[in-house]
Amino acid sequence: MLFDQVTLLIAIGVSSAALCFTLFGAWIGARRDTFLLEWSSGLGFIVLGIIPISALGRYYDPLLQTASFSALLIGFGLIYAGSMQFRLGRTNWAAVCSVTGLGVLATVAAFATGYSGTGTVIANLALALLLVLTGWQHWIGREESPIVMAANATLYAITALSFALCSLALVLERKWVLSEYPANWAEGINSIVVIIGLTGIGALSLAGNQARISRFHRMEAITDPLTKLLNRRALIERYTAPATPRTAAIIFDLDHFKSINDSYGHAAGDLVLCHFAEILSNRIRVSDVAARVGGEEFCVILHDVDQQTAVKFAERIRMKTEAKTIVSDSEEISVTVSVGVAYTAGCKEDFYALLERADRALYEAKTSGRNRVRSEAIRLVG
Ligand code: GH3
Ligand code: MG
Ligand code: MG
Repeated sequence: MLFDQVTLLIAIGVSSAALCFTLFGAWIGARRDTFLLEWSSGLGFIVLGIIPISALGRYYDPLLQTASFSALLIGFGLIYAGSMQFRLGRTNWAAVCSVTGLGVLATVAAFATGYSGTGTVIANLALALLLVLTGWQHWIGREESPIVMAANATLYAITALSFALCSLALVLERKWVLSEYPANWAEGINSIVVIIGLTGIGALSLAGNQARISRFHRMEAITDPLTKLLNRRALIERYTAPATPRTAAIIFDLDHFKSINDSYGHAAGDLVLCHFAEILSNRIRVSDVAARVGGEEFCVILHDVDQQTAVKFAERIRMKTEAKTIVSDSEEISVTVSVGVAYTAGCKEDFYALLERADRALYEAKTSGRNRVRSEAIRLVG
């Protein structure tokens, strides 16, 4: 073999320690992302498990080996916990502790009764199981970042297989008691795979986290924090090309909203805005777009509709808003909305021009008495 087992162990220890510090540093900068701490402490335990055995060279001490396997199992258990936290935002500690605890107990029991070979088989299988479970977390969560997560799941699976092969080699050799480190084909494969696997997993985990942070900032930049609808910027970015035929732009402006703030307070005003946003988002189709484009101004873009349908939609929203009573601090608040509808009819049209026409229709709705829908051609209310 190109490298002896001890050299490979040291390499694994050094790369794990480097990753441990990198992830810890990342956690310091983002303490809410507790999965970074779980991964980092998991790697810390892996380093702890590797140091003593690599320090002793080829000298085999079953007691030390038991402690080393226990630290490795706890380390990979924590990595499993971190991956669950990364995917779900919470960790099922009962599941993590059961699998890790059973692995440690069975390993310690086998070593304590003198069956160091059996203990090694059990420890390697438990490590393989923890790696498979961790890989599975990445696989089922791959929708978030398909290539990174699937690649990570694959690396976990390959690393798990290399541990399982170590167990298989011992079983095939029927080595139930060991007096020295197992030195078979599987151990060689395992060391190489673990170095490549852990380094790759570390890089991919950092890349996955970075991609998530970028997506989060992007979402934050295009989302209105109060109503969670898209903001004006998102709407403009979405429609850089001319609006296609059969598109309707509908602008909603809550009536006398300033007096709601003045009478009930700003927090009550915010609540009214959220309720109105909910009315909109509950009624649009997935292909439509709703955005908060100003303080108490909202815009809905309906695709592939005729003008009549667009006006009816606007009218339904107007009626629903008028009928709704919002309770804030045991005060009942009612609000109405004025609506302007513009339509592209048979031709493509500049999106800004379409919005301007909807704005003009809205202005007409306001000046003709509020709480009504105004469209360019069809007039349903008022
Ligand atoms: P009109 O019927 O003509 O539309 O009258 P209005 O009072 O609704 O319109 P105006 O433009 O005079 O006032 C809009 C108010 O909306 C003023 C501003 O304080 C309030 N506003 C804007 N953004 C927010 C917000 O995020 N929360 C709350 N509570 N109020 C807001
Ligand atoms: Mg306004
Ligand atoms: Mg208003």
